[in-house]
Amino acid sequence: MSGGADGGRRPGPGWAGALADLVVPLECAGCGRAHERWCADCAGTLLGAPLRVRTRADLRVPAWALARHTGAPARAVSAYKDRGRPDLARPIGAALASGIDALRAAGELAEASERPTVLIPAPASPRARRRRGFDHVRDVVDALAAELAGSVPGGPVAVAPVLEVRGRVRDAAGLDARARSDNLAGRIRRRPGRTPIPASRGAPSSVAALLASPATVILVDDVVTTGATAAACVEVLRAGGLRVDGVLTVTAA
Ligand SMILES: [Zn+2]
Repeated sequence: MSGGADGGRRPGPGWAGALADLVVPLECAGCGRAHERWCADCAGTLLGAPLRVRTRADLRVPAWALARHTGAPARAVSAYKDRGRPDLARPIGAALASGIDALRAAGELAEASERPTVLIPAPASPRARRRRGFDHVRDVVDALAAELAGSVPGGPVAVAPVLEVRGRVRDAAGLDARARSDNLAGRIRRRPGRTPIPASRGAPSSVAALLASPATVILVDDVVTTGATAAACVEVLRAGGLRVDGVLTVTAA
């Protein structure tokens, strides 16, 4: 039924919003609820005390995850890294900051005021970075650092992107999680010439300063599966004289 001479439907008042939703569907990355990008219920799935994770690979340091890699947390990680939701870096970074607060409150990590916090992003292969168009772990770590730097009482915070994946890595598409992790692990190296980037005053701003003074050093990744990648990162850092206090990920598969 169409009454107009043009035979078409006239856009109603909500038309512009509906079109905007079509172009950029506005829905929660965790549960699909409309008109919210990351709803409070889903945000709650990443809060609370992080889980202690046991991995097949021996990390030689404690590992924690905010949640199991299932349900809303898994969908959010996937939406963030591979389905066009880079805006989730901020809420994921904030959830990781809450996780660090909880670990400090539990005595698992030193208090922020005692020593600088140094966050090391697990590296992505150049190929994965190109495919995604961004460095997904690095962006989350930057958001996490900003959150920690802005917290009161806080302490010095730096991001130290000192690791990289070198050489040819088989395209991870088609590999299962275990193969993907093993695929990366053997190619992680120190990244020459990279220095810590202070997110707040008093944080170490050179590798020499980082090595010279005690710091709480946390390796951050999106998902831990076998732990092979994290173990390789920890080992490379240790070989370079940097003691890692723990590994913190968003989810554990
Ligand atoms: Zn939701």
